[in-house]
Amino acid sequence: MAAARTLRIGLIPGDGIGKEVIPAGRQILEALPTSLKLKFEFVDLKAGFETFEQTGTALPDKTVEVLRNECDGALFGAVSSPSTAVKGYSSPIVALRKRLDLYANVRPVKSVMTAMNPIDMVIVRENTEDLYVKEEKTYDGPEGKIAEAIKRISQKASFRIATMAGEIALRRQKIREAGAPSIHKSPLVTITHKSNVLSQTDGLFRSTAREALAATAFSSVGVEEQIVDSMVYKLFRQPETYDVIVAPNLYGDILSDGAAALVGSLGLVPSANVGEGFAIGEPCHGSAPDIQGKNIANPIATLRSVALMLEFLNEEAAAAKIYAAVDANLEEGKLLSPDLGGTATTTQVVEDILRRL
Ligand code: ATP
Ligand code: MG
Repeated sequence: MAAARTLRIGLIPGDGIGKEVIPAGRQILEALPTSLKLKFEFVDLKAGFETFEQTGTALPDKTVEVLRNECDGALFGAVSSPSTAVKGYSSPIVALRKRLDLYANVRPVKSVMTAMNPIDMVIVRENTEDLYVKEEKTYDGPEGKIAEAIKRISQKASFRIATMAGEIALRRQKIREAGAPSIHKSPLVTITHKSNVLSQTDGLFRSTAREALAATAFSSVGVEEQIVDSMVYKLFRQPETYDVIVAPNLYGDILSDGAAALVGSLGLVPSANVGEGFAIGEPCHGSAPDIQGKNIANPIATLRSVALMLEFLNEEAAAAKIYAAVDANLEEGKLLSPDLGGTATTTQVVEDILRRL
């Protein structure tokens, strides 16, 4: 009999409703059936605005060190961003992505398959370069100020993000073949760019992504490409046509939020920040100060983020159980949180999903 695998998971609730949904993430891991032979150990870690107010830093070194040296994965809740710039404060999740080289941001957007127009896509966003290198300058020109920003695209980063997109496409296909309901029959990766205008930067992204996806390992994966503006149009008109989308940082950022709008509530959409052998699950929503402390936050974005983290830790069977339990809750539609038109509390939604595991 194979020994149980123990995964050590860092828990970073952060601020606002992060404190209400991350405990649900822990609960669902603890409730996974023992037949999966998985054990979990949890480490509570600090980050966020409250941590900044208490300690003077939003991301204590200890949090980074424990994640790097002791954890297999982590769950990150949300951090509240002050409405005006606060001296010394910067976003801990952005810093974490940098310090742990979490080079991909992965965001599945999925409706229930019984919806009128079901969608089931995942956006794979490059997370380390493009305009986000934040090398900007302003100088005086002959007719007033001029501001410039660097858009940096490297072969290395483009190759590894496209490779990850190909791997995700194959894994999704495997999960479908194992019986998960889906609208797609075969894997497809869509490369997003604007190389008609930016022939060098986006041109390099496009050609490198093509090259990465031409590997024999991906011979069963369909590859197409699309200019980002026409992609936005089609994403809203025919979202069902997309399976895996791979994009440079800025387009990926914009497409991700746009796609999230297609499924009705921010409270449903998960994400993962992924590097070599490490993944942090993170719901897409923020700290939602307007509903904090009321026990009405939708926990589903977090529960799906837990499953997504497990996928990247090669625990697909465990991930599939969580996805199925969440889908069953949504399809029945009796215990829904207020953002979905229901009256159930966070606790009730979590209980219903745990019962279905
Ligand atoms: P932040 O600055 O932390 O992002 P925000 O005010 O922008 O905070 P978001 O968390 O981004 O708030 O949420 C935007 C809206 O969506 C809010 O009205 C919030 O209540 C709602 N919302 C976000 N997450 C959830 C959730 N899990 N369940 C229910 N409603 C949510
Ligand atoms: Mg927000």
